[in-house]
Amino acid sequence: MSPPESGAAATSAAGGRLTIDLQALTDNWRTVGRQVAPATLGAVVKADAYGIGIEPAVRALSAAGCKTFFVALADEGLRARRVAPDAAIYVLNGLIGGTAPLLIAADLRPVLNSLLEVRDWLTARRPHASGAALHIDTGMNRLGISLEEAKALAARRDLVANLGLTLLMSHLACADTPSHPRNAVQLARFREAVAAFPGIPTSFANSAGAFLSAEYHGDLVRPGVALFGGRWSNGSSPLRPVVTAEARLLAVREVPAGEPLGYGAAETAKRRSRVGILAAGYADGFHRLAGGTDDRPGARLFLHGSFANLIGRVSMDLMAVDVTDLPQAKPGDLVELFGPNIPVDEMAAAAGTIGYEILTGFGRRFDRLYAGTE
Ligand SMILES: *Cc1c(COP(=O)(O)O)cnc(C)c1O
Repeated sequence: MSPPESGAAATSAAGGRLTIDLQALTDNWRTVGRQVAPATLGAVVKADAYGIGIEPAVRALSAAGCKTFFVALADEGLRARRVAPDAAIYVLNGLIGGTAPLLIAADLRPVLNSLLEVRDWLTARRPHASGAALHIDTGMNRLGISLEEAKALAARRDLVANLGLTLLMSHLACADTPSHPRNAVQLARFREAVAAFPGIPTSFANSAGAFLSAEYHGDLVRPGVALFGGRWSNGSSPLRPVVTAEARLLAVREVPAGEPLGYGAAETAKRRSRVGILAAGYADGFHRLAGGTDDRPGARLFLHGSFANLIGRVSMDLMAVDVTDLPQAKPGDLVELFGPNIPVDEMAAAAGTIGYEILTGFGRRFDRLYAGTE
């Protein structure tokens, strides 16, 4: 349902708003925590905490008890550090561009993704540096040292001691397909690597991995998208949506049957229609592919307790929704684009993509309203 008009949003000139439920975020964190116990639960807050804002996310998760965060970039690590002075913060992209001194100064821990980075860290590390993760590639073929490299490195006890490793990490490529044979292949390789580094805590599972069996959890689980209300796995989810995206109706107009709507005359009104014009478009992250054509209805939106389809192409700042069956629809109404009634992954699927991509790119021009604990 659309939340009632209130305060800043009612007088706002923005085309829409994101309402971010920090209570849902921390509830999700606790739900995943129960799922993976006795493993410890961290949180991945890269890409501005999947679009919701890294500072409020880290503040809320810290208050809920989260002590370990993962970011992609040093800059994100610095932002997280300002609001979580005591947390362990790992930088997944490692030592890009000679950032070791910056990481050490801010007490950030690099994820060492290659032997080159291992060497750089051996040179740069200071005794007071708080830690580092070693990333072992077990089959994603993206970042990380190979199993053979890991075993050779482990044999050099002197070097390993100087790395100050606090985590052995690997990343699952296919965890969202529990039956995928690559999961077991990666697990077997990870176990072999772990055996070569006794005593160092392990981290293997992302959101989808948290919902695989316990052998995939390791000591520290690192979910991202599950915390932010995106799909994490198959099946029905006990997790709550965190972000509600709404756009404002600018106008409601009549369109005679047989008249085309919007650019390219891509969709024609099949009946005499009432059409709401929304103040949001692809510049706000609503993908153009989710629009309607004569062959395919547009994505579903939600207003006045009902679903209604986009009609015609999504333009940069505007798009149209068919409100013929919703006589209450009027200018000023807020229309849900995704949120409690429309899972972000449904909207994403209408555009041929995944919830992650929608969440991380949505609503730059929208107002932001934070609700729940902070
Ligand atoms: C992004 C990322 C995660 C979190 O993945 P989700 O699917 O969002 O849970 C975990 N580990 C690594 C290495 C990542 O890059």
